[in-house]
Amino acid sequence: MKIRLVSNNFGERELFETRLRESESRYRLLADNSSDMIASLDLNGRYLYVSPASVTLFGQTEKELLGRPATDFMHPDDRRLLPVLIEKIRERPGIHTLTYRRRRKNGGYAWVESTVQGARDGAGTVNEIVLTARDISERRQAEEDRRIAAIAFETQGGMIVSDADGTILRVNRAFTEITGYTLAEVVGRKTGMLNSGHHDQAFYDAMWETIARTGTWQGDVWNRRKNGEVYPVGLIITAVTGPAGNVTHYVGAFTDITQRKAAEDEIEHLAFYDPLTRLPNRRLLEDRLNQALASSARSRREGALLFIDLDNFKTINDTLGHDKGDLLLQQTAQRLTACVRETDTVARLGGDEFVVMLEDLSGNRSEAAAQARIVGEKLLAALGKPYRLASCEYESSASIGVSLFCDHENMDKLLKQADLAMYRAKTAGRNGLRFFDPEMQSAIAARAMLEAELRTAIQEGQFTLHYQPQVNSMGRLTGAEALLRWQHPEHGLMFPDLFISLAEETGLIVPLGRWVLESACAQLAAWAARPDTAHLTLAINVSASQFHQADFVEQVLATLERTGVDPRKLKLELTESMLLDDIDDAIAKMLAMKAFGLSFSMDDFGTGYSSLAYLKNLPLSQLKIDRSFVTDVHSDPNAAAIAKTIVFLAQSLGLTVIAEGVETEAQRDFLESSGCHNYQGYLFGRALPPEAFEAYLSQALPRPADCA
Ligand code: C2E
Ligand code: MG
Ligand code: MG
Repeated sequence: MKIRLVSNNFGERELFETRLRESESRYRLLADNSSDMIASLDLNGRYLYVSPASVTLFGQTEKELLGRPATDFMHPDDRRLLPVLIEKIRERPGIHTLTYRRRRKNGGYAWVESTVQGARDGAGTVNEIVLTARDISERRQAEEDRRIAAIAFETQGGMIVSDADGTILRVNRAFTEITGYTLAEVVGRKTGMLNSGHHDQAFYDAMWETIARTGTWQGDVWNRRKNGEVYPVGLIITAVTGPAGNVTHYVGAFTDITQRKAAEDEIEHLAFYDPLTRLPNRRLLEDRLNQALASSARSRREGALLFIDLDNFKTINDTLGHDKGDLLLQQTAQRLTACVRETDTVARLGGDEFVVMLEDLSGNRSEAAAQARIVGEKLLAALGKPYRLASCEYESSASIGVSLFCDHENMDKLLKQADLAMYRAKTAGRNGLRFFDPEMQSAIAARAMLEAELRTAIQEGQFTLHYQPQVNSMGRLTGAEALLRWQHPEHGLMFPDLFISLAEETGLIVPLGRWVLESACAQLAAWAARPDTAHLTLAINVSASQFHQADFVEQVLATLERTGVDPRKLKLELTESMLLDDIDDAIAKMLAMKAFGLSFSMDDFGTGYSSLAYLKNLPLSQLKIDRSFVTDVHSDPNAAAIAKTIVFLAQSLGLTVIAEGVETEAQRDFLESSGCHNYQGYLFGRALPPEAFEAYLSQALPRPADCA
């Protein structure tokens, strides 16, 4: 029994020890092959066992480690952790984790995560520490990177991340602050939602082309905030590529550069503008002048340079002081700017010298000169008004030199010419205007003389109306057109083509037109008083600036009422161009007058637009075929076709039609057969002075016997 027992005992022990050995070798096998280091320590933290992974992970062999305290291999800052943990394990068994830095043989530390527990003896007392050590350096690094990236993402600048299609995935807080859009409002939408519309497609195409080629783009763009405000940003776009090299994301980083732009603008302003008057300086003027010369050469339209120099400016500086001088220059700048169109340039060259550059004047040189003169005189008048300089009242004047610039290539020469002309204006007695070109100068002088004479003529009543008969196809007189004549004291009878355009340019057409209206009504009143002439109508020509006067309708109606004339006898001849200037205003005025019985004839018809589209809307009663078509009906098939078309147009609009300039029977017959039954022209009579027209009447009008 005992033996058995012994043998039994012996057999169990053996079995047990065999098992233990087997188990131990299994564990060793596991430990030897584990990629983590496995180690055991005594309670003082000294290595009792280390697995071979210590070599692969940290470069230290078993020999180097056994018997040494594990803390020797820990980062000095982390060393205290181990004894504390061992203490803890002895008191309270369980599995613990410890994260610390462990030295590598070749220098540096690895981040290590260990699971640590106690091993117990037969009495259940902890007598060893068993641990695993796993190198987590890479994971730690990735976490660190993510944390830094997250902080970096939330910087002062706006950040936006989109996928490869431009769909927004993420934005940061600064994005919201700058754009006004929250994350929720933009996620899933396209980055294009931020565009301001300030850049054209070509701009964005070039940007994306650069990103595709180089992986990045940098520049300034105008974006739009949620509140609609457009603002500048400095933007960097970077393409993020995946392992296969394809773009997976775009990252946009931007800063609001409103402030920087404002500063840049201010710097630019200083470079191109005069600080005292805020006008363009010489540099900017030269820039614009160069452009103007090029565009004038292209469009064949004239431009003009007006060189302005204040008279006696030195005196004010010397007597009143420089601050008053500065005030005068500032006010001069304001007055000059107020006199010209926004597209014209007013610049200060320095001192008391200014330049006004006019663009887009007439293509005809003498007309352009006349336009430049009118502006120049306006400037002189504006600068001649008294100035208030702080507490002083001050009178000043200026001299202006003008040079026209179509066909000019040399800017410097042009400026010199204007300067020279200005100098001549000064020597001619100041407060005046001179042209550089002597021919131009004399033409302008003649025009100025004519203008003065025109003023006197209006005051002194040197005008008369001549009456040209209008007849119907029976040859019966239906009325007349009143044509203006100037009985000039020296030149004799002058025709309208010599003075109407000047009267229009100078505004004198307004009083002149009023006089025509008065006289025509007086004539109608006289005709109305006689039974044989009571049926006659009278047509008067109305010019554009007269028609566009705000009180034109009232003026006409008041005159009719005062003279007691039947409005149905007065016909106003208008031209296409004047109506098209402001067609709504024209229609309103015509309707207002038509309501009283007045009628309207479209003068010189066929030479303008002659489009059915707008004709339909105008309350006309007659089209007047222009003389040029009538003259050529037999020599030019085109003219004949146009005349016929006008008749057709009039018929389809329910208007009467009259032909002007009818000189021959053949012309009359052609018109008659084309359906035009009213005529005016030398064939029936020239424009006659009132007395001659009386005589004409007595033979043209049917005598009572004829009527019977
Ligand atoms: P318009 O209104 O087209 O006048 C017709 C012009 O043709 C008149 O020239 C007239 O004398 C001329 N004429 C008439 N029949 C014949 C003809 O058979 N053969 C030729 N060769 N010519 C003929 P006029 O009087 O020199 O007037 C020229 C233009 O001056 C007028 O053209 C009109 O636009 C303007 N005008 C005339 N009087 C006034 C007026 O009182 N106020 C305004 N604003 N303009 C006027
Ligand atoms: Mg006319
Ligand atoms: Mg005409």
